[in-house]
Amino acid sequence: MPFYSYDDVLRISKLIQEMPCEISEELRGWNWHNPPLLPAYTTQINVSDLSFSCQTGRLAFLRYKMKVKEQGDERLHFGSFIHKVISMATSTAKSLLYSSTMQNGGELYEKMTKRMEDILSVRGLPESYIKAFKALWNRAALTYASSLDKVLELSKYLSIDGLVSRVVPWICEFPLDGRLLGLNRAVRIDALVPPTLIIEFKTRRPNRNVEVALAAYALIFECSYRIPVNHAVILYIEFAPDASSFKTYEKVLRIDDSLRLEFVEKRDLYASKAYLDVDPGLPADCDPYCPYLGVCRDGR
Ligand code: SF4
Repeated sequence: MPFYSYDDVLRISKLIQEMPCEISEELRGWNWHNPPLLPAYTTQINVSDLSFSCQTGRLAFLRYKMKVKEQGDERLHFGSFIHKVISMATSTAKSLLYSSTMQNGGELYEKMTKRMEDILSVRGLPESYIKAFKALWNRAALTYASSLDKVLELSKYLSIDGLVSRVVPWICEFPLDGRLLGLNRAVRIDALVPPTLIIEFKTRRPNRNVEVALAAYALIFECSYRIPVNHAVILYIEFAPDASSFKTYEKVLRIDDSLRLEFVEKRDLYASKAYLDVDPGLPADCDPYCPYLGVCRDGR
């Protein structure tokens, strides 16, 4: 991990089967047109904003009413970079598999390593970003190369589409439209394993707000496709201080009624503060990762 093989998908499916989850019909995404899911305001909130704790909702007031630019700190920039690398490594593996016939995983590993050297030779990245890039890219190359060997052992006569979907089982940055639920129209899920396994990557510490945002993705998916999503996965990726290595912690989550109701409460709080002309003020404690710390608390 964090790159999933087909075996990882089977492992997660088994885990999910062992985690039953009852969900009330009115809290399914396809019931967006009835309370409590029906949005009370017309403002569309970014799902990523739900992953920050701002108990007064000032975050929404600043972003949507006052149009204040966020001042994300270095940790948020690094997190965004990690998302891009995972997505790029995944799409590169797919494009290499589609564009040439490979006899074994070693060939894919070599081609991915060469592509990494090409990318790094033209990008002027800081040293820590280069180390993180190499660590992640190498993990992707190893995971997908090993998967290719397993798939080729299974059969040498798979169609190219079938082969690629077995070697690289997820789609990164899967697009959804969240407007019916009062959310942004250009929502992107970090990774989707068809048909319904939603996966979110996080370089922040585990917290409940991240889970609330994940519930938003599940509800939008239900709203769009009318397919139940009872579980989802968060992959917490923790880098060493010099960024040359990382550990991944996997959390399989129930998207249960209480999490769905927390989503509704937070969405409605943020939407109301985005709609009204009143500054709600600062809460007693601010989220240490909030992108507006530089605006509200002078970066502290
Ligand atoms: S810095 Fe504090 S008050 Fe300002 S938006 Fe963030 S959490 Fe809210």
